[in-house]
Amino acid sequence: MLRLVALGALTVALLATGTAQAVLRRHVVGRSLTGRPIVALELGDPGAPRKVLVVGCVHGNEPAGIAVTSRLLRLAVPRGVDLWVVPSFNPDGQHAGTRGNARGVDLNRNFPFRWTQLAGVYYSGRHALSEPESRSAYALIRRLRPAISIWFHQHMDVVDVSGGNSALETRYARLVGLRTASLVRPPGSIVTWENNAFPNGSAFVVELPAGPLAPPAALRFARAVDVIAR
Ligand SMILES: [Zn+2]
Repeated sequence: MLRLVALGALTVALLATGTAQAVLRRHVVGRSLTGRPIVALELGDPGAPRKVLVVGCVHGNEPAGIAVTSRLLRLAVPRGVDLWVVPSFNPDGQHAGTRGNARGVDLNRNFPFRWTQLAGVYYSGRHALSEPESRSAYALIRRLRPAISIWFHQHMDVVDVSGGNSALETRYARLVGLRTASLVRPPGSIVTWENNAFPNGSAFVVELPAGPLAPPAALRFARAVDVIAR
């Protein structure tokens, strides 16, 4: 059975298997500096209080997590979970293959917790939340207050024990076969802000290996999301 659902003015979509969980809702949650849409895909039970957010790419030259988010969209969502998948919060950087957005701001240094002026490759912007991509992520997180947020980066090949629930982060690492590490908490980083703003939730970084992710690995990382989401 194929379902087509209309949600507001947005074209919504798809899929098939006869369960409400198979309905995918498409939301445009913001625009990049050059006007590219920032798309969030919602699956599962929209009424569930347990929100889980997965972001495939925030540094445009670290896009391997998009293979995980694509794969995640084709798996059944655990009952009682409202899953939000954002393939990329940085479509301009992704298009250009750059870490930062279209004016070179590192979005993962542009958040309000301990924001500091940084230059160069880690340019943190004129002030916290100076960039439209950051503001769209900030607004979405404040709206959802996710129980779990997973942010994919590259290419350190570790799960960063990021300051949320370390048991959860370690469990994810074990499921995907990565080691854990406690990386430096840079000023203005997204997960540090998130873990401080919403201490009941857990936001963490997964550093994938360098290069594209092979399909079996993408499936492993996606399945592990659904395991810890329960
Ligand atoms: Zn990164």
